[in-house]
Amino acid sequence: MSFSAEQFKKQFPLFAQEENAGLVYLDNAATTQKPLSVINAMRDYYIHSSANTHRSSHRLARRSTEMVEQVRNETKQFVNAVSAKEIIFCRGATEALNLLAHCLCSELQPGDEIVISTAEHHANIVPWQMMAKRHNLILRYVPHSAGIPQFDRLGEVLNDRTRVVSLTGGSNSIGLRPDLSLIRKLLRPWQLIWIVDGAQLAAHEEIDVQKIGCDFFVCSAHKFYGPSGIGFLYGRETLLESMPPWHGGGEMIAEVEFQQSHYAELPHKFEAGTSPLAAIAGLGASLDFLSRQDRTAMAEHEQRLTHWLHRELNASPNFRLISQASHNLGIISFVPVEGSATDLMHWLDERDIAVRVGHHCAQILGRTSGNQVTVRASIAAYNTDDDIRAFLQALEDYCEVQQ
Ligand code: PLP
Repeated sequence: MSFSAEQFKKQFPLFAQEENAGLVYLDNAATTQKPLSVINAMRDYYIHSSANTHRSSHRLARRSTEMVEQVRNETKQFVNAVSAKEIIFCRGATEALNLLAHCLCSELQPGDEIVISTAEHHANIVPWQMMAKRHNLILRYVPHSAGIPQFDRLGEVLNDRTRVVSLTGGSNSIGLRPDLSLIRKLLRPWQLIWIVDGAQLAAHEEIDVQKIGCDFFVCSAHKFYGPSGIGFLYGRETLLESMPPWHGGGEMIAEVEFQQSHYAELPHKFEAGTSPLAAIAGLGASLDFLSRQDRTAMAEHEQRLTHWLHRELNASPNFRLISQASHNLGIISFVPVEGSATDLMHWLDERDIAVRVGHHCAQILGRTSGNQVTVRASIAAYNTDDDIRAFLQALEDYCEVQQ
């Protein structure tokens, strides 16, 4: 197989709309656009098989239940989990990380330690802070150099009280993609739980949780061409079995008595209430969509654009580049030397070029690196060479106006 960004882009109806004819969409780390197959799967679910799952046994309910379990199975294959029981559907990476922080920390002792890094998204910081406060736990950070975590020095913050290490699989702010095999090696001597925040990773590379060797992996479908409102948590079956449930309600119980309840088997123990069923159908379609692509060629295309932009911005006296091209999953982060990042974002928006400006939900990284507000251009596979040329031209025009 091979890859053509132009052909790939044709599968996304948003770009075919008249009002989006000139759109250069470079805000993919925030969310990606959706292919027609995903939109159709959600629409078809409502038209053909809308019914609640598990509770009833009529034809539509059975079909809906089958769809959910089929998508669970596809998700298992997508991350190469051992069993479909290891896949818990949730709203996204944020909810999955909150679930983990809640369930894991409630079993810890005061003084136990959790390790995160300065490059985490707030979703992988705040839940741990909240639980550390509630259970008197200690939150440690991987040593950093000017804000950039030095993952090779991870061992310096591990000790026999470390219980959980929760680290990014790829930074949404600067694109930094840690060497997961190095992290695995450094964690091996310790008895602890390793969580990978894979929210940014799945769009750009194939995921194999067994090869990574992590205990938990979290993801959001909307970052890899799927719908918003659905994501998943992968967890080792033995660990999920031993964890207490999080939310209580329907679906997650086996039996309810006056004073106590008995919980359902995995994975339902962690899926209280009615799931976003149409979104699950959309997730299934996005997995199917990705499985039909040449992922290696797709990643090569994204890397070529990422390197191209880094080269141009590096060579320009008008911009200070913050991200680095190497080990980068497709994020170009920079500031203009003259004028403000926010003004530049508005300038680009007026030319229908969508980038993001701000702290990108990574305030600790911004503060420790001294770059609190940056412009972020993030690449997806449908970005074409023309997109990059238009973006670079607009940046050049902006600088001319500033002089
Ligand atoms: N982790 C990372 C690295 C992210 O980039 C994001 C979203 O930007 C999240 C977690 C949270 O994802 P969601 O908002 O889909 O729950």
